Amino acid sequence: MNTKQVKAFGTEAADANLEKLNIQRREITPNDVEIDIEYCGVCHSDLHFARNDWGFSVYPVVPGHEIVGTVVGVGANVSKYKVGDSVAVGCLVDSCRSCANCKVDLEQYCPEWVGTYGGHDKHLDMQTFGGYSECIVVDEHFVLSLPANLDKAAIAPVLCAGITTWSPLRHWKVGKDTKVAVVGLGGLGHMAIKLADALGAEVTLISRSPDKTQDAMNLGADRVVISTDESQMNAVQGYFDLIIDTVPYIHDINPYVGTLSTNGTLVLVGYLGPLDPMLNSMPMIMGRKTVAGSLIGGIAETQELLDFCGEHGITSEIEMIKIQDINEAYERMLKSDVHYRFVIDMSSLKK
Ligand code: NAP
Ligand code: ZN
Ligand code: ZN
Repeated sequence: MNTKQVKAFGTEAADANLEKLNIQRREITPNDVEIDIEYCGVCHSDLHFARNDWGFSVYPVVPGHEIVGTVVGVGANVSKYKVGDSVAVGCLVDSCRSCANCKVDLEQYCPEWVGTYGGHDKHLDMQTFGGYSECIVVDEHFVLSLPANLDKAAIAPVLCAGITTWSPLRHWKVGKDTKVAVVGLGGLGHMAIKLADALGAEVTLISRSPDKTQDAMNLGADRVVISTDESQMNAVQGYFDLIIDTVPYIHDINPYVGTLSTNGTLVLVGYLGPLDPMLNSMPMIMGRKTVAGSLIGGIAETQELLDFCGEHGITSEIEMIKIQDINEAYERMLKSDVHYRFVIDMSSLKK
């Protein structure tokens, strides 16, 4: 298959900084859309993957799965998009399209799903490269339409931070009578607060950072609980119907299970791996409580969210950076110093 060389930013090793490199993109096939990338959000997963935190990174790694841009080419069979359209790509660029999960729009749970970076590109028989690059070529099924009324840079984080929190909010049927807690106020956390609030829920932020209290209230939280303050945690025992835990690193989730109501569910979306300390089943059994997990969202659900954001005027709170600032941005992310999503102005890569 023919390829073309494009500029990107990535890393050759877990302990190396990200820097300029060249990658190959496939030439468009009949079902493909080629997108000139204008903005790309910076997810904590980008950092995990660049640094091989999960142990399955393939180098070079070019992260980025909150991609917004303009269509610059379409294959002969493409019907949904034309050159000049504003479009987006999230965390998925392919799946088998025929398994039980794919048939019900749950492509993210397809055994053959292909991540936007670090997945396996069947056309080129090599790893996929993400949005820290000039352009991307994606099957039209995995391309999304952007609402015309929203800022193009500020909508980018909806493609991962937004959908990852929207999917559990929808699955657990959050509405105006639901008491939702969000653990961690970063990229995912701030979108979770905005979206749960827009769905009419009562929203609490549980955070380690008292200095984020006013921001959380401005984003739509009704209350902030500081997780290290025992009396504040005691005050919400048995209270929440749904907790979305976005903390990226290993932590004790038992204190949060205690704050679930009977039939309540704690959904882990952040930390990936064995829990330590172990989960105590006692409060779960005594209160029919659930600890669950959730992975991003399917393509139809992501389009539903983009449309919802358009109708409700919801975007992300962003700090725009140049691609050359990405290593510093990762260091700030590790210190929880993100307010509340970095978005890369990809025109900086062209310089
Ligand atoms: P982020 O912007 O860095 O936010 C994480 C927040 O967690 C921080 O702001 C902080 O909030 C809190 N936190 C608690 N303990 C922490 C610690 N030891 N180090 C750093 N932060 C800590 O990250 P994000 O982009 O929202 O991503 C969160 C996690 O979700 C990551 O692990 C990412 O890989 C994962 N993720 C999962 C999915 C999925 O499909 N399940 C999708 C996207 C991302 P406070 O200061 O308020 O405590
Ligand atoms: Zn992400
Ligand atoms: Zn499938």
